[in-house]
Amino acid sequence: MWLFEDSCVICDAAANGICSSCVDQLVTAEPPRLLDISSVTALFSYEGVGAQLLQALKFKNRRAVLGTLVDALCESLPTDVDAIVAVPGHPVRVRERGVDLPAVMARRISRRLDIPTAEPLLRIDDGSQMTRDRSERLSIEFRAVRSAPHRMLLVDDVVTTGATAVACADALRLAGSASVSFAALAATPAPKFTHQGAVS
Ligand SMILES: [Zn+2]
Repeated sequence: MWLFEDSCVICDAAANGICSSCVDQLVTAEPPRLLDISSVTALFSYEGVGAQLLQALKFKNRRAVLGTLVDALCESLPTDVDAIVAVPGHPVRVRERGVDLPAVMARRISRRLDIPTAEPLLRIDDGSQMTRDRSERLSIEFRAVRSAPHRMLLVDDVVTTGATAVACADALRLAGSASVSFAALAATPAPKFTHQGAVS
């Protein structure tokens, strides 16, 4: 199943892309529920091998592994979708790492499910953000350039709180979308509560 690459992206064992023992260590994702997003799908949890896998995909160009993961994700995606759009990456970070994972994922899902990609969202990130305090800097805004199709699938590599996905969904609705679903490869694990009620 894992084709075309001769060593495991995680442990360097001889394997096609990723070895079976690393695959076995992936934890099933429990993606967050997000306000006004009709469905949230994620493949594995962003912890342990899952976190290493995402880092490897971001910083090495391992298209075969990425392709296989995206194909697995496609098995669980809603198909009543008119168009697919990626969460726009931060331009500086995309340049540094060389792989714009959400964009690559969106193109692959588009081909696989035979659903077109939509005009990319714009990330509104003016220079003034650098001088604001942390809480303000976290509120990133997005804008759709053209009117957005009725039913959208939004794609990102990893979902944490989902704030970015919700901001993108807001932009799509402003541009005319009636429903937005969301898919990511990985979801950060939900906070665990101890018996004292503390969050770790
Ligand atoms: Zn391995």
